[in-house]
Amino acid sequence: MRPDILNPLFAETDSLDGVGPKLKKPLARLHIDHLRDLAYHLPDRFVTRRAVADLDDAGEGEQIVIALTPTEHRAARNPGRGPYRVLAQDAKGNICALTYFGRASYTAKKTLPVGEKRWVAGRLDRFGDMLQIVHPDHIAKDSSELSANLVEPVYRLAEGLTQPRMAGMVAQALDAAPELPEWIEPGVLDKQQWPAWRDALVLAHKGENAKARDRLAYDELFANALALMLVRQSNRRRRGQSLQGDGHLRNKLQLPFPLTGAQQRSIHEITGDMAQESPMLRLLQGDVGAGKTVVALEAMLAAVEAGAQAALLAPTEILARQHFETLRSLAKPTGVEIALLTGRDKGRARESILMGLVDGSIQIVVGTHAIFQDAVNYRNLGLVVIDEQHRFGVSQRLMLTNKGKLTPHTLSMTATPIPRTLVLAQYGEMDVSRLDELPPGRQPIDTRVISAGRLEDVVAGVERHLTTGQQAYWVCPMVRDNEQDDIAAAEARYAALKHRFGDDVVLVHGQLSPELKDAAMQRFASGDAKLLVATTVIEVGVDVPNSTLMVIEQAERFGLAQLHQLRGRVGRGSEKSTCLLLRGEELSETGRKRLALMRETQDGFLLAEEDLTLRGGGELLGTRQSGDEAFNIATMEQITRLLPMANDDAKLLIERDGGLDSERGQAARILLYLLERDWGVQTLRSG
Ligand code: ADP
Ligand code: MG
Repeated sequence: MRPDILNPLFAETDSLDGVGPKLKKPLARLHIDHLRDLAYHLPDRFVTRRAVADLDDAGEGEQIVIALTPTEHRAARNPGRGPYRVLAQDAKGNICALTYFGRASYTAKKTLPVGEKRWVAGRLDRFGDMLQIVHPDHIAKDSSELSANLVEPVYRLAEGLTQPRMAGMVAQALDAAPELPEWIEPGVLDKQQWPAWRDALVLAHKGENAKARDRLAYDELFANALALMLVRQSNRRRRGQSLQGDGHLRNKLQLPFPLTGAQQRSIHEITGDMAQESPMLRLLQGDVGAGKTVVALEAMLAAVEAGAQAALLAPTEILARQHFETLRSLAKPTGVEIALLTGRDKGRARESILMGLVDGSIQIVVGTHAIFQDAVNYRNLGLVVIDEQHRFGVSQRLMLTNKGKLTPHTLSMTATPIPRTLVLAQYGEMDVSRLDELPPGRQPIDTRVISAGRLEDVVAGVERHLTTGQQAYWVCPMVRDNEQDDIAAAEARYAALKHRFGDDVVLVHGQLSPELKDAAMQRFASGDAKLLVATTVIEVGVDVPNSTLMVIEQAERFGLAQLHQLRGRVGRGSEKSTCLLLRGEELSETGRKRLALMRETQDGFLLAEEDLTLRGGGELLGTRQSGDEAFNIATMEQITRLLPMANDDAKLLIERDGGLDSERGQAARILLYLLERDWGVQTLRSG
């Protein structure tokens, strides 16, 4: 049970003054559901404004506070199309436009009456020969409100929220936050001169306070390390079954290729673990195309040889189906019964699979999380393989292993080429096998960086490519934090490409129904459709060897690891493959370097390490790792710098007080609940 002291922080956002259902929605889009999330919604940056007497005194691009009097409202000629402008003049009669796009114009009508002086805060820019402030941050009737707060946090927002609104809600959440007992080792706290938890939180919203930010990041790293170590500790105490296959099924396999050394070594490590009574917790880390599927198959056959069943869990239906087909064809000579079970199977078909799992006639099952629903029972589940690990949180991983009397062995597989420091942070409870060798004969993928201005050339290139009978992927831009915009962009691109190429084009994105998605994928996989337009949903797993060209729009917006995974979709057949990275017109120095790296290397681990160096340092507030939810507070730079310390601290605490019973142990429990790593605490009760 969550400690009572945390209750105020877990109150819903609509318990705040002025927050109703209308604000709750945009907050939820930012993953803000509780007051805790508001308190931890740290500013992206801070602006420092200057109060100016008139526009002559202000520079373009400068953040200012100024008194202006509206003279005229100008709606767009075609409503909904152009911006809404309010013309306003300063004390000297200089004119400046206050410009609003979209729905924001409704507020302008009310807050900027013609002829009444207002204090306006925002960034002064030039548009043609006119000065303008786009979406002023604040508008107030008297100056005191604005001039008191010249340093101001800038928060990430969603549509329907404004900076002042957000600041107000954050302030309320901070007021509600209690003081919490200290969980950090006193020695560490002293040496780092970090503030206490509540002070750190308040300070982090007030200005660029590095110590406060570090403390909060450290809390997260420490909580994570501690929870993972608790899981590991409890796993050692669990009872599983020793599975020692005699090889009679594996010997029947007729693989069309010899296994690589790395594959052999991994299989050896895995079957070694499975022979032990304590349940295996192992991560198989291998770059895209390294050949993880065969390793999984060997492990599953070993389990079946020993009289147990094996289950393979995939993150999506598409992937589950693909794995099913691959495994079934590879395992054909063994005569092992393999079934596919997804959430879409209903009625008789589903019943018959459930029966087969209970009576043991189905030896291997492949599916989505449907294979672990309560209604699904196994005769003797001995091994669980989880593909693309990063899509599942640790708590889900734990749930899966609660099927059956004895804890099954778990093999997790990931293609995310994360740097070594992060492996420990994200998978610290597991042992690791690495496929650090690609099967021989792979052709390098010809990677080129092209300016988005040459889109027409690129489309012509795609056309030439398709006429050779080969297929292609087109990955649409990623508009961070807003899936809706991603989909809009993908649909627009799809329409344009369809106009050009006709019915040979299919579209796949995250909000299509599974049926439509499967149908599109099926058409592409069978070669009926030639061009697959997609958002990043094709990132994991999809395997169509005849697709040898990939176009990625706005490549600079993706993380290197993600680009690498996307690119791994091509280069799977014998034909030479090409990857075109389209970049925007304005590219930062770092952005340029990152894309150049993509051109130069195909080593996923190297890319991951370099990404870390390129992103680390420099930026004070830093960028959170995109796409990966292991950490919400700590930035990459902070992870690299603080993680070793957090790991040591967590280890020390577990050694001294493995049950978290001491005063500090109790405080650490509070931290685990606060940062939702309470799955770590759960292991204490069951263990
Ligand atoms: P991933 O690690 O990305 O899951 P896969 O298991 O899908 O990789 O394997 C990628 C491709 O490489 C498949 O077509 C597979 O048949 C092939 N492959 C796997 N192991 C070898 C090997 N030792 N030699 C040659 N090809 C292999
Ligand atoms: Mg795979």
